[in-house]
Amino acid sequence: MRKPFVAGNWKMNMTVEQARALVADMLPGLQAVSSVERVICPPFTALMAVSAMLAGTDIKLGAQNLHAKASGAYTGEVSPAMVKEFCSYVIIGHSERRRDFGETDEIVNAKVKAAFGVGLMPIVCVGETLEENESGRTTEVVTRQVKQGLKDLSPELAPALVIAYEPVWAIGTGRASTAEAANQVIAETIRKPLAEMFGKDVAEAVRILYGGSANAANAAEFFGMPEIDGALVGGASLKAADFAKIVAAD
Ligand code: PGA
Repeated sequence: MRKPFVAGNWKMNMTVEQARALVADMLPGLQAVSSVERVICPPFTALMAVSAMLAGTDIKLGAQNLHAKASGAYTGEVSPAMVKEFCSYVIIGHSERRRDFGETDEIVNAKVKAAFGVGLMPIVCVGETLEENESGRTTEVVTRQVKQGLKDLSPELAPALVIAYEPVWAIGTGRASTAEAANQVIAETIRKPLAEMFGKDVAEAVRILYGGSANAANAAEFFGMPEIDGALVGGASLKAADFAKIVAAD
């Protein structure tokens, strides 16, 4: 049995003051649903403040990125150990980072290993663009992202992975995938390669989320699918009532 998992990706939103107000607003709703693993991923600058507010709760903190190197001359970057000071989880390979910051599957792979190296659990994002989808390349692209992104990962670590299937055309567009289509991509292009790489038991243990315009109205439909264990939520995670509703639907 995989424990349901819902994470909120705040992206580049919320000052410390705004973050405090939002967390105060959503805490009661989130605390009411302990059957779901709940994770909030604020920007780096708000991690310390939000971490203090989550102390004593079972709600976990995640970062949105890290650098694969342990330390050194990497101006503007944040190391795995620095993230680990506050977080349990870290989002890796989000499509916005792949598209806007040149993150390749090789970089994703290095970051996944670096995260595990300090005891952080990665939330690895995969997903095809609209063009790839329309040209019938979804299976090829997502399978490659899974195989390259998780290459040479120890099978002992793999069950702790969380993978988010986020079709790029559905992110921030208000145009979510259908639950059936997402379920099928997850089964064929994520769980199947995981089984080939790490064995069937590991593939069955990994939590796989849907992401891309998930909201309070459509979440239950995704969570009703056998292969979908939760959601990575962008826009709707910035609204306390909506995010609590999504968590309660899982
Ligand atoms: P969205 O973003 O829910 O705003 O579409 C999801 C994500 O980018 O993780």
